[in-house]
Amino acid sequence: MHCPFCAAVDTKVIDSRLVGDGSQVRRRRQCLVCHERFTTFEVAELVMPHVIKSDGVREPFNEDKLRRGMLKALEKRPVSSDDVENAIHHLKSELRATGEREVSTQIIGELVMNALKKLDKVAYIRFASVYRSFEDIREFGEEIARLQD
Ligand SMILES: [Zn+2]
Repeated sequence: MHCPFCAAVDTKVIDSRLVGDGSQVRRRRQCLVCHERFTTFEVAELVMPHVIKSDGVREPFNEDKLRRGMLKALEKRPVSSDDVENAIHHLKSELRATGEREVSTQIIGELVMNALKKLDKVAYIRFASVYRSFEDIREFGEEIARLQD
């Protein structure tokens, strides 16, 4: 790439290392003309599928929205933010792995429920009761009973 200081065309890489669990490459470069040094980061461009809502409207995948939904269910529960971030990271990988360009909110909801089930049973029940809007109290009780197995 061009030197950001003098716009010279030739720069050389003087150091290159993996950062952030190996998902990024950090390179130190030096301009061959003005000898200034600068750093570049290289990350893979990963495209998340779009989300199809139940009314058919498409919208871009929104990680913040996903996080808010999960954190709401996990409110005051003994789950570390590291565990939540790992779950979100995993969930995004699962979504990309579908290879689909669009996924329904239903699929995302199921993935969130699976993630919460592993993190915290109470959070799972909270999320599922809103998301699935259990038909009646009996159905809700059956779901809780299944969890206790
Ligand atoms: Zn330069």
